[in-house]
Amino acid sequence: MDKHMILYRGSLKSCNYHCSYCPFSKHSMSERELEKDRIQWFSFVESVQRKAEAMHIGALMVVPYGEAMIHSWYWQGLAYLSAQAEIDAVGIQTNLSFSIHDFLHWFENAGGVLKKLRLWATFHPEMTSVSEFSTKCRRLVEKDVLLCAGSVGVPENLNVLRALKQALHASKESKRGIYFWVNKMDGLRRCYTQEERAAFLEIDSYFERELMFIPANAAFCQKRLFVEADGKLHTCNVSSTLVSQKRWEELEDFPNPECNRKLCSCYLAYGGRKDFMNQILFGPYPLFRIPRHPKAVFLDIEGTLFPGKGMADIPAGIMAGLEALAREKIPVFFATTLPYKKAMERCRRIRHLFAGGIFAGGAHVVLYRRQEYFYLLKGLWLMEAFSLQRKFGFRVLAYREHDTLYKVTLLRPSHRVWQTQEAEDLMCCISFADEKIRYYIEENCLQIVSAAADKANGVKMLCGWLGISPNDVVSAGDSEEDREMMNCVTV
Ligand code: SF4
Repeated sequence: MDKHMILYRGSLKSCNYHCSYCPFSKHSMSERELEKDRIQWFSFVESVQRKAEAMHIGALMVVPYGEAMIHSWYWQGLAYLSAQAEIDAVGIQTNLSFSIHDFLHWFENAGGVLKKLRLWATFHPEMTSVSEFSTKCRRLVEKDVLLCAGSVGVPENLNVLRALKQALHASKESKRGIYFWVNKMDGLRRCYTQEERAAFLEIDSYFERELMFIPANAAFCQKRLFVEADGKLHTCNVSSTLVSQKRWEELEDFPNPECNRKLCSCYLAYGGRKDFMNQILFGPYPLFRIPRHPKAVFLDIEGTLFPGKGMADIPAGIMAGLEALAREKIPVFFATTLPYKKAMERCRRIRHLFAGGIFAGGAHVVLYRRQEYFYLLKGLWLMEAFSLQRKFGFRVLAYREHDTLYKVTLLRPSHRVWQTQEAEDLMCCISFADEKIRYYIEENCLQIVSAAADKANGVKMLCGWLGISPNDVVSAGDSEEDREMMNCVTV
């Protein structure tokens, strides 16, 4: 079962930085208010420890108003949670102004598990320097802490952000460098120019995702929760609808999502939606915003790249994800039951972003400009199939490569869907002799290919050609035909 992720925001509303645009820099908190935040946080931590197993909580991230990592109780609470067996990862957003040495010391002394820690570090050019910030990032990476770093996309800051990206990229400790994200600037009051857009995309390959308008749809927000210090529950940080009359303390299961927003307007909202591209790009807990950088990606076409039946266009979010993968030079492959020609027609707009694919249910494997393979069929049984057309009401379509057969479709009119029993009865009427075949139903099509041809074997073949392990690739699909492929690769 998928594990779930919680965002937590305490009653903290203060910061040690004084950035000109930020309301929390002007707000200070009394000792009493801070003590209240401490008590609420520990009470939350204790309740998560108690409920994690039953509620399938796998990850948690603190998203404070202001800076929480200057208060040691957050260090301690994160350490306790990271030590919990059911919890896979704990994270926090921070300006990274705290002492890395003191934090690591505290965290480890409190029993924290560093490899479960995730930091979302925000760079504030008014308050710190490229050198100071990047040195801290590198020290954390040296200790195997996973983190992302980033800043708001203020056009005037382009040069300093480029310099920071360079400094983070040069990190010896992390092969790809540290991911540097750019948030769109809400107060810009105009669109980014083409040049600014291109410049920010140079810094952050995923920046287009920030600029999309993503209509809110709570159906994508199952099993996620945003918990406030007083226990109030929302689906995400931008939706103000309460999702339960209960408070966090009384909750035993994740409530159904509800949302009063028109748009999923920031990363903490859209990045946590259950959509396959979030997982492909950022792993099972995408809200931490740390790219997974797979060595290759395999994507089904119908139902996945085109989520709706008969859809003409690929949704903007999927398109932006594909373009990000291309910019990151991660090879992407089709994995489809469609034959090559049909797949190319269907995916005209995006085919240039792909490095090849698995077609015809695995019977045809292509690595563009390098290699191609067909699982062939002898097809001595084809005449028998023709003779049964009238009885079972289908038409035979044979797919060949240079006169050699690799796939047969038994096609019915679109309203006559093949039933499993009918397919089994038909297969009993055909003598396949020593030919090992497999068949599968796609609505009105009964597809026959070689027994060895499936998407999982296609993935293995392409991985072999590329010299990479299937453990380092990811895939997405929505049907039975995708199941084995998705089991054989990391999702
Ligand atoms: S605004 Fe939040 S709750 Fe609403 S659909 Fe978007 S991510 Fe889900």
